[in-house]
Amino acid sequence: MSEAIDSRLSKLSLSELQAKREELAGQIRVIDETIDTKKTERAKELMDELRSLGINPSLSVSKPTKAESKITRPRDPNKPCPVCGELGHDGRKHRKENLAKKSA
Ligand SMILES: [Zn+2]
Repeated sequence: MSEAIDSRLSKLSLSELQAKREELAGQIRVIDETIDTKKTERAKELMDELRSLGINPSLSVSKPTKAESKITRPRDPNKPCPVCGELGHDGRKHRKENLAKKSA
C-alpha cells in the first residue's frame, strides 16, 4: 500500500511535494482541532452525566485545558531562565537543584 503511494509521490516535483505536504499538514491541524473539540465535548457530557447522578466529577476529569498548555510548551530559546536569568534553559533545569536543597 505504501509502495504505491511512494511511486506516486516520487513523480511529483519538489514544489508539488511541498504543496502536498502543506495541504496534508493543514488537514491534520483540522483533524487535531476536531479531536480536541470532541474530547472536550465528551468530557463535558461525562461530567454532566456524573453530576446528574449526584457525583462530583474529580479534577482529573476536568482537564480539557491540557491541550492548550501543550501548544505553549515549546519554550522560547531567547527567553532567559526565570531562576538565574541565563539564556538557553528555563526554570525546569533548576528543579533538581531545588529538590536536592530541600532534601538536604
Ligand atoms: Zn537557570
